[in-house]
Amino acid sequence: MPTIRDITTALEDWAPPASKFDYDNVGLQIGRAERAVSKVLVALDLTPAVIDEAEEIGAELIVTHHPLFFRPQKRLVGDDHIGGMALRMAEQGIAYYTIHTNLDVAHGGVSFGLAEKLGLQDIRFLSPSMGKLVKLVVFVPESHAEPVRSAAANAGAGQIGDYSECSFQTKGIGRFRPGADADPHIGEAGGEIQSVEEARLEMEVMRWDLHRVLNSVRAVHPYEEVAYDVFPMENPASRIGSGAIGVLPSPVGLSSFLDTILDRLDAASLRYSGDPDQSIKTVAVCGGSGTSLFEEAMTQGANAFVTGDVTYHKFFEAMEAKGSHRMAIIDPGHYETEAHTEQQIVDYLSPRFNDVTVRRTTVRTSAMSTFARS
Ligand SMILES: [Zn+2]
Repeated sequence: MPTIRDITTALEDWAPPASKFDYDNVGLQIGRAERAVSKVLVALDLTPAVIDEAEEIGAELIVTHHPLFFRPQKRLVGDDHIGGMALRMAEQGIAYYTIHTNLDVAHGGVSFGLAEKLGLQDIRFLSPSMGKLVKLVVFVPESHAEPVRSAAANAGAGQIGDYSECSFQTKGIGRFRPGADADPHIGEAGGEIQSVEEARLEMEVMRWDLHRVLNSVRAVHPYEEVAYDVFPMENPASRIGSGAIGVLPSPVGLSSFLDTILDRLDAASLRYSGDPDQSIKTVAVCGGSGTSLFEEAMTQGANAFVTGDVTYHKFFEAMEAKGSHRMAIIDPGHYETEAHTEQQIVDYLSPRFNDVTVRRTTVRTSAMSTFARS
């Protein structure tokens, strides 16, 4: 039977924990990674009702998007909301794992899911992450270039968009003189200067994969001292970013688009700013709280932005000088723009683990309700 670690390792291939925001707290928060799992329950938030459900179905693991432990917890006592839930899970032998901002920024993560839910096409990151890539250059005798290249690729190097094992190779002459204490692959300790036909092998690496990639390279590289360079890259990352942008199959009026949103997100109401008759074709989205991306969305020509947690003054940000709406802002709610994440996690895990039942919670975990005049 798969273990908790098998499940979390699979999730982390999709959403590497190192890609999380600095303030965040993701990963296994309660439990023993080596325990076997037969049932997993997935929810957006952890609530007592979700733990009830896990107990009822016999789930050994709960996975949520929002973390239970966000600020440092000073005590775990039964009469505290967070401590009480943590104790309950520990006492019942239920492990608890959270996949939060690392899933927000993952390719195919929360915002891509929202864009798909709203029927957008040609979906891409609204704001690809910067400063996350390095270029690794390894110098290797030509005879050993292939094993080094494939070891680096297996450790995660050379991923560009939907392409894997991307590399570039040139030929040249490497020179070195082995010192008296060296154990050289070519030449003798304390001997003559050597010149070798070497390949210069270049690959892109996510910053957080560099250590693992270098270890894999060293394991197959014939030299005692591996010559390599690491350069920071200014390129946007292709697999990590914030928000998503795409286009509707054909333009629709804003009011009709608002209807679609309520329908697709199963929302009772929404708040918006915009001209009900304006035409909507290009749409930017961000699951949860995405108001910091408004400017980027306008720069890219979005006609509408769908996100949660929009505050009063933020609704003014997309206005033209004359007070007309450059971009409609639509807030169906934080929960409503992220609830689909539960199904995304179920759909990701289920085909990978035939022996494990992965279930979406039946609980609407939001603490908020809307009340409208009847
Ligand atoms: Zn959220």
